[in-house]
Amino acid sequence: MAITKADFGNDFVWGVSTAAYQVEGAHNVDGKGPSIWDEFVCKPGKIYQKQHAQIACDFYNRYTDDNRLIKELNIPNHRFSLSWSRILPEGTGRVNRKGIDFYNRLIDHSLEMGIQPWVTLYHWDLPLSLQQDGGWVNRDIIQWFGNYVENCTRYFGDRIKNWIVLNEPMVFTGAGYFLGVHAPGKKGLKNFLAAVHHAALCQAEGGRVLRQFDQSFNIGTTFSCSHLEPYRNIRKDIEAAKKADVLINRLFIEPLLGLGYPVNDLKILERMEQYFRPGDEHKLAFEMDFIGIQNYTREIVAYSAFMPFVKAKIIKANKRKVETTLMNWEVYPQAMYHVLKKFGDYKQVKQIMVTENGAAFNDHVFNEKIEDCKRKKFIQDNLAELSKAQKEGVNVKGYFVWTLLDNFEWAEGYYPRFGLIHVDFETQKRLIKDSGTWYRDFLNHEPE
Ligand code: BGC
Repeated sequence: MAITKADFGNDFVWGVSTAAYQVEGAHNVDGKGPSIWDEFVCKPGKIYQKQHAQIACDFYNRYTDDNRLIKELNIPNHRFSLSWSRILPEGTGRVNRKGIDFYNRLIDHSLEMGIQPWVTLYHWDLPLSLQQDGGWVNRDIIQWFGNYVENCTRYFGDRIKNWIVLNEPMVFTGAGYFLGVHAPGKKGLKNFLAAVHHAALCQAEGGRVLRQFDQSFNIGTTFSCSHLEPYRNIRKDIEAAKKADVLINRLFIEPLLGLGYPVNDLKILERMEQYFRPGDEHKLAFEMDFIGIQNYTREIVAYSAFMPFVKAKIIKANKRKVETTLMNWEVYPQAMYHVLKKFGDYKQVKQIMVTENGAAFNDHVFNEKIEDCKRKKFIQDNLAELSKAQKEGVNVKGYFVWTLLDNFEWAEGYYPRFGLIHVDFETQKRLIKDSGTWYRDFLNHEPE
């Protein structure tokens, strides 16, 4: 029998997620300061076909129409992020009134339409001027971030009740400060470890600032995570998978839960010590109301003598003859079940929300229609796995599709389309895909 909304319970939160840099555009409008992504997209060889997000989905100017589309799809919750440099153009100090006005308009219009906002404070677009002072590598980021969060509570805290501190710290530190493939394009272990420690401190600090402002806020933070399996059932691969698990799944959640960094399972993390100041062990911890899990796939891990520090490598999906998405991620819905069980096993986790899940496939517009059966099936199969975990006792209370609109997919540019709604980037015309229509009908079903 097909899964229905009723299977998830009356209080289950249904939504869709977006991120400021990926949809807003208006990159230098109304006093917005540049972010690290505004700069990164201009560097040669970084983004697919030299694309950028100066206009993106033009959400800055079209949010009322897009809210109407959210409404048309019966989606009651919209998770979006705030652009730090739209609010504080230099990252600290001067507030940009027009930036505040924009988010006030967006929040007010969403509420008028009956769409609950879930605000992500940081979805990767650090103000460029803060990067000029070292960005996440500089410990001062704890003050900069705290001050930014305070401003957000002051201006929006009367209407925003649901807050998400960071989006996927492992991705923005790993891709941005170790591999150099995302902004700000920094590389190396030193940058990475410092950025990790400061991001881990900020995820807790952000929680504290929010809680202090209003005890009743619903506060969470998100983690990217994958289900990992060893390539072969041999000791070396099993150990490699365990090490990869530290980096991919455990690095940020464990200090937050008061467990410290998983140093025993990955020795290189001992080097983190040099960035510690007295009291940091405690400052890393914060009791979140919920954690956001963001899962797209599973990874297969093998031992590799050549990989420094972890001695592990990921066997890419296209080398394994499995069905893949346009991101070269394996289509493996069971991963959803496994990550929910895994994160649900931490006894300190109170509640889990799936704050992102979705897929990029080739979409074809034909007669003003997009029959994206693969995306629809992907979401349905993932929901079935979520439901299975829920039935086994995991306290998962929400699901947000990634994403509303086809948008700027970071280094991949506009090529991978994840949206429930197709965007023609020449004309900005929106077209609801079949997956969107399916989600609309699914959400329309009121539990008895
Ligand atoms: C990020 C999104 C991104 C999505 C698909 C997540 O890692 O939070 O910004 O577009 O995955 O790659």
